[in-house]
Amino acid sequence: MKFFALIVLIAGVVANKRFDKHQVLTLYPTTPEHLSFIQDLENDNNIVDFWSPDDATSVKINEKVDVRFSSAVLGNIKMKLQEQKMDYEVKIANLQQLIDEQLDLKQMRASKNGSYDYNVYHTYDEIQQWIADTANQYPNLARKSFFATSTEGRNVDMLTIGKSTDKPIFLIDCGVHAREWISPAFCQCFINRMLSQYGVDPQVTRMMDEMTWMIIPLLNVDGYEYTWANDRMWRKTRSKYDTFCTGVDANRNFDINWSGEGASTEPCSNTYCGPSVESEPVVKALSDIIRKYKGNIQGYIAFHSYSQVFVYPYSYAYEDTENAAQLNDVSSRAASAIQQTTSKIYTFGPGYESMYLVSGGSKDWAYQMGVPLSYTIELRDTGKYGFLLPESQIDGTCQEMFQAMIVLAEEAITNT
Ligand SMILES: [Zn+2]
Repeated sequence: MKFFALIVLIAGVVANKRFDKHQVLTLYPTTPEHLSFIQDLENDNNIVDFWSPDDATSVKINEKVDVRFSSAVLGNIKMKLQEQKMDYEVKIANLQQLIDEQLDLKQMRASKNGSYDYNVYHTYDEIQQWIADTANQYPNLARKSFFATSTEGRNVDMLTIGKSTDKPIFLIDCGVHAREWISPAFCQCFINRMLSQYGVDPQVTRMMDEMTWMIIPLLNVDGYEYTWANDRMWRKTRSKYDTFCTGVDANRNFDINWSGEGASTEPCSNTYCGPSVESEPVVKALSDIIRKYKGNIQGYIAFHSYSQVFVYPYSYAYEDTENAAQLNDVSSRAASAIQQTTSKIYTFGPGYESMYLVSGGSKDWAYQMGVPLSYTIELRDTGKYGFLLPESQIDGTCQEMFQAMIVLAEEAITNT
């Protein structure tokens, strides 16, 4: 396993990693034997990459599993699946083709000038420039502030938006997992709509008047940059605590049942919890801000993809929060608002039920710190494109999730 990781490491330095004939298969385990077969698959980034759930240990019988296999192992895997009599389907037949399509579009656009395009994916540099430009464009409604310096020395910025800066806070972060590109894209279009529609749309005006929105449009900047330059499938941060494997799953690095079930202590795992709590600078910064404004934060959302789910605490244990009924009710209304907007179906529930066990995740920690409305929201899609959601779906995702945000904001406003 480490041998392959080393190859990835070397290849990563030289050129953008290719995924020719890599396939994403959806597996349908129905027996304990199927389950152990899947769990025995090595969770190596080069050989087997769990897309949903995040790792092999979270797989359950009678629940579908999306896994990426490299071309080198694919034939063997399919043979074994047939031997096991496990049903599967090819979800993505050639991953590189989807990646090329995204990057081709990027090259086509490079020559074009004009206003910022919210319906495309942007690089780290472009997002940084956009944050600065946005703060300049709306000096009375938006303020840019330094949030953190990443492991590799990049700036992470925060935009605080709202009519005033001392209202109850709604805290949002996007892009904690690097390959989930739709997440930072959503943060950008959400901020743009809030700023451009202030004083025009009564709902936006109310949201901006009654709450102070602290938004980190791109949290895992190192990982994100790496997805553009080296490996589109990168998920973790870029900290190095191990000779062979790089990165920590920032959403396993918070101080809530840290290193417990649903997190890995193996540095090569995609769900590696890190060497210690808050080892990652961006996690430390987010934890600090939640500590700093403790008692004033009414809402917290971490945007992820994919699966279309409103996930509320707890994820680290089979346990419900005191306000579980409220969280369930708000999710239900938000999901209805989405369905009425774009007909997309979002499901909802406590993490232990709607997803799988996760220890050290941000929304459990935020809830524990007194944030009543604490969510992880998994954006589009349900697996057809997975992390490679086409740019043509950014707008629809923005439209539907904005309607959900109106529901969540109203709950936060009336809660205070
Ligand atoms: Zn994620």
